[in-house]
Amino acid sequence: MEIRDIGIVGAGQMGNGIAHVCALAGYRVKLNDVSQDAINAALATIEANLNRQIARGKITEADRDGAMGNIQTTLRLADLGDTDLVIEAATERETIKTAIFEDLVPHLRENTILTSNTSSISITRLASRTDRPERFMGFHFMNPVPLMQLVELIRGIATDEPTYNSCLAVVNRLGKTAASAEDFPAFIVNRILMPMINEAVYTLYEGVGSVSSIDSSLRLGANHPMGPLELADFIGLDTCLAIMNVLHEGLADTKYRPCPLLTKYVEAGWLGRKAGRGFYDYRGETPVPTR
Ligand code: NAD
Repeated sequence: MEIRDIGIVGAGQMGNGIAHVCALAGYRVKLNDVSQDAINAALATIEANLNRQIARGKITEADRDGAMGNIQTTLRLADLGDTDLVIEAATERETIKTAIFEDLVPHLRENTILTSNTSSISITRLASRTDRPERFMGFHFMNPVPLMQLVELIRGIATDEPTYNSCLAVVNRLGKTAASAEDFPAFIVNRILMPMINEAVYTLYEGVGSVSSIDSSLRLGANHPMGPLELADFIGLDTCLAIMNVLHEGLADTKYRPCPLLTKYVEAGWLGRKAGRGFYDYRGETPVPTR
């Protein structure tokens, strides 16, 4: 099925990025949120990010105007009923996502594809709460959406091939690259990345290295563009801990136990960049290691 109209639920960090790339690729976008403030902030962010792309010579002013013109916003979830594809990117809480799909289903066309951008909730379980598990899958963008090349496409147990292929065609039209993943906890990227970050926190916890020696070791010794602790601060330490808990519980293997020091930082509210402090303190001119 050819996708022309895309509905996006949730206009937060991910939802605004997804709206940005879809609108720029020529899709008609309906962006929904429960908060008008979130919608207003999303439109401002999208415009600012498009302007940044103009300044870098990546797109023209006409591209920006076309993209902004492709985005409609709405507080009514039912308005997404006439879209071909819905990408749900609301808050990462299963009760919220389930309620969204249950409210949306009665308004949908028969062949509309439902997807979720969830980082950790079972696609199969979300699909089972809808009337169309065969036309349901995971559509997992990376943050920040306009810059990151990868999209993980996750099949639930019932997802059919036409649904997969329609989503793959969207990823291609966005100019991004898809990686196909099966529906197991944390999929591929976070299954590998989060245990590495957690191990970096254990390395700090056990006193093997300081924050700067751990980060420079991975930057200079493994050619990673960012050190693991710097990256953890960027992602958010609460998010890292939540994903480790999903791996630990979902795979029932002690090798995924979250480091107690990661838990302690989260308990302190030192959640990384967004909180002004994490493994680094960002409140001054330059980030200062906290250990
Ligand atoms: P966010 O907190 O920035 O945004 C969530 C938005 O959802 C908010 O604007 C909120 O008002 C809205 N919302 C809540 N309930 C709603 C409802 N019932 N209907 C419509 N909108 C509702 O969160 P985010 O970081 O954008 O994450 C969104 C999703 O993307 C989550 O599932 C998360 O796991 C996933 N994800 C996040 C990242 C990341 O790095 N932040 C990366 C990949 C995937």
